[in-house]
Amino acid sequence: MIVMKFGGSSVADASRVRHVEGIVRQHLEQKPVVVLSATGDTTDHLLECGSLALKGKVDCDRVISNHQKIAQDLGIVIPDFDTLATELRDLLRGISLLKELSPRTKDYLVSFGERISVRLFAAYLKKQDLAAQAFDAWDVGFLSDSRFGNGEILPEAFAAIEGRLGTLRNNYSFTPVVTGFIAKDRSGNITTLGRGGSDLTACALGAALQAKEVQVWKDVDGILTTNPNYVPAARPVPVLSFEEASELAYFGANVLHPRALIPAMQRGVPVRVKNSYNVPHPGTVISNQGAEGLAKAITCKRNLTLVDVVSLRMLGQPGFLSKLFAVFEKHELSVDMVATSEVSVSLTLDEGGALDGLRESLEEFSRVSISSGKASVNIIADVRQATEVLESALDVFRAEKVNVQMLSHGASKVQFGFIVNDSEAQKCVAALHARFFES
Ligand code: ASP
Ligand code: MG
Repeated sequence: MIVMKFGGSSVADASRVRHVEGIVRQHLEQKPVVVLSATGDTTDHLLECGSLALKGKVDCDRVISNHQKIAQDLGIVIPDFDTLATELRDLLRGISLLKELSPRTKDYLVSFGERISVRLFAAYLKKQDLAAQAFDAWDVGFLSDSRFGNGEILPEAFAAIEGRLGTLRNNYSFTPVVTGFIAKDRSGNITTLGRGGSDLTACALGAALQAKEVQVWKDVDGILTTNPNYVPAARPVPVLSFEEASELAYFGANVLHPRALIPAMQRGVPVRVKNSYNVPHPGTVISNQGAEGLAKAITCKRNLTLVDVVSLRMLGQPGFLSKLFAVFEKHELSVDMVATSEVSVSLTLDEGGALDGLRESLEEFSRVSISSGKASVNIIADVRQATEVLESALDVFRAEKVNVQMLSHGASKVQFGFIVNDSEAQKCVAALHARFFES
């Protein structure tokens, strides 16, 4: 069996839904389990409904009519639609009365998007004489912790999924259509796995069911060598290892939910990124086997803050690093890249994290300088060829007259990171891409 995941834009209107039905139909022999996101921008629309409700206005007409329009165009009725719509309105009324929208309520609110989309799609498959059944993820075993807005799938969920959906899949000949993105915690509250979390749902399903492959369907020919908005010559990467793809996801390539690959990697299930507009194209396959070649991709993460910390006690002070990182933990700041010498540490943070208080905490035991407006330009390449990669890369930076402010390589076996000024990032990406991929 395979898992086929389709994102919101793939089911944004009737013609896209018909198209996806065609793709699923072509793969019936491989016994697909389909994972769906909410249609189009429904998740954002629901969040807007929530904000409006906080201001006292209960209005979900757009969400309702968008789905009605798709259903009408397809000539179907969405099962449970009225019940779900009533529940949604009641929830919004509750928010407007309480003037309160907690992370828990927000997860409940956005869950309507996926709950409606699977019912819609399964109904359309049936209309096309294709046996199908819609499932809410919690009914097939998706159990998460209670971190609302960014839930983690619990380890016991995998056996539960295998027990429920695996059994179903093997005994019946219908196509299950499962909600991406959502789960329930142990107390029965609805949770979400973070924006774009349907990728994670698909990979967790594939891992639990030992799928032959998890297919993530997008509208590009797989993962590209770099951001095509910066470099029109970007082209698909045919093969990546899990490690390489994870580095790509963390360092700014907006291709997959950053945690999605973990379950697939743990159970060795390959993940293929495919183009729904170009079905025959093989896309990018991510598995335990990487491919040869010097560099795989160039990524870029913008708007970083660079923090330089020098120990006041100088040389040989035990516990400096642990004290340092405890400060970041206290302020809930996640550190991306680190370089250390005997007495100083440089590290980068995503901009947007609350930096208030960070300087004060660090100044208790060190000298600190914090500068924003930085970017990391990253090369995904084999560290066994580090000297060659660095030589070419530094040559490019010199030709572009860019001073590299920090460098990280060796920790990850597949990634080299260079910190430069944010204003220089785009030209560095283009020049590196030209050197590694276009010559
Ligand atoms: N619908 C959710 C979102 O927009 C989950 C997903 O698309 O994967 O983030
Ligand atoms: Mg979406």
